[in-house]
Amino acid sequence: MPRSYVREARKRVGPKKRRIGPIIDRLKSAHPGATIALRFRNDLELLVSVMLSAQTTDVNVNRVTQRLFEKYRRPEDYLAVPVEELERDIYATGFFRQKTKAIRGTMQMLLEEFDGVVPRKVDDLVRLPGVARKTANVVAAELGEAQGIVVDTHVRRLAQRLGLTRQEDPVKIERDLMKLVPRPDWGVFPHLLIWHGRRVCIARRPLCETCVLVGLCPSSRV
Ligand code: SF4
Repeated sequence: MPRSYVREARKRVGPKKRRIGPIIDRLKSAHPGATIALRFRNDLELLVSVMLSAQTTDVNVNRVTQRLFEKYRRPEDYLAVPVEELERDIYATGFFRQKTKAIRGTMQMLLEEFDGVVPRKVDDLVRLPGVARKTANVVAAELGEAQGIVVDTHVRRLAQRLGLTRQEDPVKIERDLMKLVPRPDWGVFPHLLIWHGRRVCIARRPLCETCVLVGLCPSSRV
């Protein structure tokens, strides 16, 4: 898209600080059920689900965890079986060797340093083996203690299309969004963008004609 056109479009929709409130309101109305797609019943299951979701779909993880969580209920359970058995049990999520190593390391540390309880602070979560910042952010947000904004491929694409950031790097995008999005919405905001990105603002073919953000979006084709 030519730069002059982008500048013109940005001017037309107005500054992002003024648009962010209506953007969030409209997305909340359009996607009232926007929430995490992973299925879990407690903090430990949440943590394991998010760790397993790397490089695979949430549907796939749910299929695997349906059985997994009947067998493994406490951190000790993941350490009580031979490595190969856990590898087999999570095989279908892919990268099963790395994930097994990460899960066992995490369970060990949970028992040794956190009394077997999943911590809620991102700084503590990222100390767990195999738990990167994105995983930590997802877990903290689901536990009601969002301390950042999760940036995945949908969040990145939509934040850029909506003119909320000019950055490419996820860490810088997160920083821009944290300045803009009101703190109480940090947890839900990524879900809203992910749902909108899957249903309307699709990567190759955004459905601008039916999008509730027309008028607030500098990339609108309408
Ligand atoms: S108006 Fe088009 S580009 Fe903008 S958010 Fe909606 S679908 Fe995406």
